[in-house]
Amino acid sequence: MSTQTEPKLVTQIDFARAGQITPQMKEVAEREHRDPEYIRERVADGRIAIPANIVHIKKGMRAFGVGEGLSTKVNVNLGISGDKADAAEEWKKVKIAEDFGADAIMDLSNSGKTRQFRQQLIDETPLMVGTVPMYDAIGYMEKPLVKLTKDDLFEVVRAHAEDGVDFMTIHCGINKSVTKTFKETGRLMNIVSRGGSLLFGWMEVTGNENPFYEHFDELLEICHEYDVTISLGDSCRPGCLYDSNDATETAEMIELGKLCKRAWAAGVQVMVEGPGHMALDEIAANMKLQKRLCHNAPFYVLGPLVTDIGVGYDHITAAIGGAISASSGADFLCYVTPAEHLCLPNAQDVLDGLMATKIAAHAADIAKKVPHARDMDDKMGQARRKLDWDAMWECALDPVTGKKRYEESPAATEGTCTMCGKMCAVRTVNKVFEGTTIDLGMED
Ligand code: SF4
Repeated sequence: MSTQTEPKLVTQIDFARAGQITPQMKEVAEREHRDPEYIRERVADGRIAIPANIVHIKKGMRAFGVGEGLSTKVNVNLGISGDKADAAEEWKKVKIAEDFGADAIMDLSNSGKTRQFRQQLIDETPLMVGTVPMYDAIGYMEKPLVKLTKDDLFEVVRAHAEDGVDFMTIHCGINKSVTKTFKETGRLMNIVSRGGSLLFGWMEVTGNENPFYEHFDELLEICHEYDVTISLGDSCRPGCLYDSNDATETAEMIELGKLCKRAWAAGVQVMVEGPGHMALDEIAANMKLQKRLCHNAPFYVLGPLVTDIGVGYDHITAAIGGAISASSGADFLCYVTPAEHLCLPNAQDVLDGLMATKIAAHAADIAKKVPHARDMDDKMGQARRKLDWDAMWECALDPVTGKKRYEESPAATEGTCTMCGKMCAVRTVNKVFEGTTIDLGMED
């Protein structure tokens, strides 16, 4: 009789590799119109992640799949900053995220004591919750950046895991080798990732290796215990078109690819983060390179913003890049709001950013032939053909705004809108086929 004990199955990847389909895999399969075995196979080899902390599952979260063959997921960032700490405004943003179809909320609070907000968010929202523990470390430990120790940083990660965070952005890839490349080759915008810049500063001042890189195995143990998906942060994502696809970004991506394999070997789910700012014609190649170097791990991108000069409209520059990136292989889009590069977004910015990103994700899903992605578009076509406005609101990504605009400008001719009124093309052709009079109001 064998005295060896079977390894404890904790994470979705553990169960998938053991051939077991979890309730979360079933839920993802049902929502995505896929066979549960399709999901299990891809969770087992890391092509799909289901970020679902065991603590959050117990609180009733919904399971979301991120990765190959699945609909593109959308994240909303929120959270207080040191300059603007209005918790009520942040809760308004949570409500918008939930009501308008976000799949994930990242709490990026970066000032003071953030734990109460994070715990309440995890208690209340069924969406995936992500955080960046590095943002929280200074407030949590009440220490200046350079006084933080490796143990301090890992204590913060553990606290987030215990609270039930489903995925954490951790900038593990910016090691001494990558910073050497960065310093040797130079960049126009240097490092624009907040977490990446903090770690770079810490490494330069202390002279130490990135603790999340050096002690990666210890990090994996914490993540495995709670099934936290590591979202490998891209510290060196390009902050302007000039820096995209440069040596520094590529050097970090190579490191991230190596870390993916180590995470999977330890039974930890992983996603990889990506750019950034990037010219339209470079995006598809960047997505393919990431998938190649990171062994088809789910790719989570911020934009990319396809021009640097769309100030005040960066939800649009990011949505253009988001549609290209998602149709070329990215799996998860982080929203960008009109306030990007300018200020902490308000609730209206959050809605505008979310809708722009949802449109990009949906457009990509149609192009990627995600099962049933086009159903609502075809229903919308039918509703418009019939001038059935109630049916149109049911198909719309944002029915509230659409209905409001329609009702603000009442049409004089029933069924039409004030754009063309009696000259409504749909109405005219319907009347032709019905054999009824085409009254344009000029007959009298
Ligand atoms: S009035 Fe013009 S814009 Fe309005 S529904 Fe008819 S065709 Fe479309």
